[in-house]
Amino acid sequence: FFASVEMAPGDPILGLTETYLADPRAGKINLGVGIYVDEQGRIPLLPSVREVEQALAAAARPRGYLPIDGMPAYNRATQQLVFGADSPLLAAGRVATVQTVGGSGALRVAADVLKQVAGAGAKIAISNPSWGNHHAVFRTAGFALLEYRYYDPASHGLDFAGMLEDLGRLEPGTVVLLHACCHNPTGVDLDAAQWQQLIDLLKERRLLPFVDMAYQGFAQGADADAAGVRLLASSGIEAFVVANSYSKSFSLYGERVGALSMVGADRDEAARLLSKIKQTIRANYSSPSTHGAALVAGVLGSTELHARWAQELGGMRERIHAMRAGFVERLAAHGAPDFGFINRQAGMFSYSGLSKAQVHRLRDEHAIYALDSGRICVAALNRANLDTVAAAVAAVSR
Ligand code: PMP
Repeated sequence: FFASVEMAPGDPILGLTETYLADPRAGKINLGVGIYVDEQGRIPLLPSVREVEQALAAAARPRGYLPIDGMPAYNRATQQLVFGADSPLLAAGRVATVQTVGGSGALRVAADVLKQVAGAGAKIAISNPSWGNHHAVFRTAGFALLEYRYYDPASHGLDFAGMLEDLGRLEPGTVVLLHACCHNPTGVDLDAAQWQQLIDLLKERRLLPFVDMAYQGFAQGADADAAGVRLLASSGIEAFVVANSYSKSFSLYGERVGALSMVGADRDEAARLLSKIKQTIRANYSSPSTHGAALVAGVLGSTELHARWAQELGGMRERIHAMRAGFVERLAAHGAPDFGFINRQAGMFSYSGLSKAQVHRLRDEHAIYALDSGRICVAALNRANLDTVAAAVAAVSR
């Protein structure tokens, strides 16, 4: 039956972690990770989350099924966090929001729904570069993949002119995948004026914006990081899609907490979209799980815990900012060429500009692991390893 099954290629990021774990050298450092770790290198359990978790454990509730679209309180809280509590879109009933299995699940459910709508000609444009799973999810759902220019290696910033030029050539109806903030893997984001220009083009060309928001709160704050979504909401564009994840913002990676919001032209369209989304989920995993959603809903549903969570999120964000600044300063102290662009990038990741050969030297000569693309996880830096990493990066950059 399975004799003809071929070995599928392994995930390059997970493969790097395996090599790192097997490395016997003391003092090895892994900058290849895709998660936030604290000053001690540990995944934090946020105190606000812990408080809700303890209350849930004490209440020892039975575990019935959730509805297909998930926990109502979670979906309401998500809408407010993503679109803003006073969003006219929410008041108009134009947003269909469902709890999903992480942000990845939101991407896949949306891809399946959009594929049904678009049929054989379904196309999506993805930034070059982007998170690898974007390609895999949409390809598997039957989309043709297109790429638009995004990262400019010369400036270590955005190729905005190239981006607009490529998007301007797309056929109407093409889905355009955008990172809300903290672009993975580059750390390069659009500013508010660029978002506005981009949205004008999307509207004029009748393209379908699809915003992936996996790092809300990691650049400037929960509301500021949703600026692109909020501008879309007020743009007059009739339809757009948002996938969001709480994996990073609540440090709940393994609980698989995310959501999909599809915006329609009016209440009736949103209701029809919701029915299609539910049909898709039902035929896939039937309904999402309870625990992570109860944690997020419990935190966001309490004014006091919500405020505490915002502070805890701010703590993660500020530590990342401090590590960026410290890294740039230490690199200069070790005589490296200018890495000031790292301070202008946002979120957990930075495209360091290191070549594949330099990344391999870091690994072979210094036991420091990064992705071949040069992506480093800034959150994996801490006061104890900052100088070591800076010295090594300076050494391979000379
Ligand atoms: N989108 C992007 C850009 C991401 O980086 C990630 C997580 N690595 C996700 C979506 C998926 O998040 P989740 O772990 O919640 O599925």
